[in-house]
Amino acid sequence: MPRKKQSPKRKSASLKKKPSLPGMPRGAIKADLSKHAPHNSYGPPLWYLDQHNKCVDCRREFIFTARQQQHWFEILKIPIHVYANRCPGCRARRRAELAAQKKHMEEMAKRPRHPNEAFFRKKAK
Ligand SMILES: [Zn+2]
Repeated sequence: MPRKKQSPKRKSASLKKKPSLPGMPRGAIKADLSKHAPHNSYGPPLWYLDQHNKCVDCRREFIFTARQQQHWFEILKIPIHVYANRCPGCRARRRAELAAQKKHMEEMAKRPRHPNEAFFRKKAK
């Protein structure tokens, strides 16, 4: 069986910064491991590199940039093994949908109870 070779995922990277770690590709951003959410990983990513991912909703390819990854993992403290699986457009749409749903549920919780609600409700726990 022929060995599958992973297609190289990097494209022409920006030439702004010199690589500061051995093996770090050009255009990668060095990770600040101290800023990550706590994890027990033996192999945390030492740098961020643009990822070319396919959106699970619209199936289009998008770039999860090194800078976005740095923001996710070091500012938002998102667990380091998470990666973006939706393009920015679909992500925004989904976030809006979830927010709308949450709002709806909050409104529903505030409405007056039906007098016979217990009758309609399945036995809770
Ligand atoms: Zn999408």
